[in-house]
Amino acid sequence: MEKKGFVTKELIEKIVKKYPTPFHIYYEKGIRENARRLKKAFSWNKGYKEYFAVKATPNPYILKILKEEGCGVDCSSLTELMMSSRVGFKGDEIMFSSNVTPEEDFVLARRLGAYINFDDITHIDFFKELAPFSETMCLRYNPGGDFTLNNEIMDTPKDAKYGMTKNQMKEAIIKLKGYGVKHFGIHAFLASNTKDNGYYPKLASILFNLAVELHKECDCHISFINLSGGVGVDYRPDEPKNDIEIIGEGVRFEYEKILVPEGMDDVKIFTELGRFMLAPYGELIAKVIHEKHIYKEYIGLDACAANLMRPAMYGAYHHITVLGKENDECNYKYDVTGGLCENNDKFAIDRMLPKIEIGDYVAIHDAGAHGFSMGYNYNGKLRSAELLLKEDGSVKMIRRKETPEDYFATLDFSEFK
Ligand SMILES: *Cc1c(COP(=O)(O)O)cnc(C)c1O
Repeated sequence: MEKKGFVTKELIEKIVKKYPTPFHIYYEKGIRENARRLKKAFSWNKGYKEYFAVKATPNPYILKILKEEGCGVDCSSLTELMMSSRVGFKGDEIMFSSNVTPEEDFVLARRLGAYINFDDITHIDFFKELAPFSETMCLRYNPGGDFTLNNEIMDTPKDAKYGMTKNQMKEAIIKLKGYGVKHFGIHAFLASNTKDNGYYPKLASILFNLAVELHKECDCHISFINLSGGVGVDYRPDEPKNDIEIIGEGVRFEYEKILVPEGMDDVKIFTELGRFMLAPYGELIAKVIHEKHIYKEYIGLDACAANLMRPAMYGAYHHITVLGKENDECNYKYDVTGGLCENNDKFAIDRMLPKIEIGDYVAIHDAGAHGFSMGYNYNGKLRSAELLLKEDGSVKMIRRKETPEDYFATLDFSEFK
């Protein structure tokens, strides 16, 4: 089964005249339409807002598109806060969901007026020394145990470093109330890349029930519930695809069942999606520069795991299209590799593809989130450019590729004259 991408061989042949491979390319039209679908799915909730997880695709031009679609940003570090601030995000348009947080990160987040999401109860005293609390503070919850959906274990919060226990949540609220905090948000991230429309509703029911309990026991106002990230995408062509409309309605059902009867119908729903917002709307484009026939058949690309780490790191599947050969029969079995001195630098193993020739261009799909951003410089490999395929069909470079000068920029060679 073929997975439809958003570039053609003709387009790429035109682009490479100006911007050689490898590069990441993003699809503005797809990003906007998807952001609108998400917004619509949660439009039943008055204060709903998506805070795009910047770590997925930290590029100001991408953030600007999402800002125009009404999204805020979810930052996890100093530099993500700095980038978001430069794009114009401020105040309640910024969620700061970090962990093991350095002092300066908290200070900047507070200065920007961001919602600050404490990962731990000890962060209260840590923060208190740095800056005054805001009227609204957010707390990250970890229910422990296993997280199950339809009797299947989706993830194991008990082994996750994030969040605090229920008793700590209560203690934290009492403590923060004592420091003058008036409103509270609660947050949890319990499973990643979920493909079941039931994930958000299940998470919502856990957090809504917790909100009711906290509201009653701690006599506090819960102003928002942050469902965080975790809604996945169909990396494989035969995988089920999430339906955001069904997900939104599922959350609404729990909201009306749990919160509304308690009079908590002013609670705002927030999300912090990264993958769902961008993954399908970014592709890594590479050129076939070598082929090798030993005990297996290898295709060597000019891109490597330094440009897209997920296959090497997680064994993740990314669909590959040989551009111009979309309708050819996939009757050749290849390992598609990059050039790192690491045997895990394989974009695909034993993948059935059409016959590949040197000079062919390949599109590696669903690379728009946690793709470029996880890049690194191992083997002295340089980061690629990022391009934006705009709605009018033109292409804009939104990050230039690195040069050797960038790679050497942090070194002082003055002693080697
Ligand atoms: C990574 C992350 C996200 C985004 O996760 P996705 O799987 O990309 O949706 C959201 N919130 C927090 C706190 C994260 O760490």
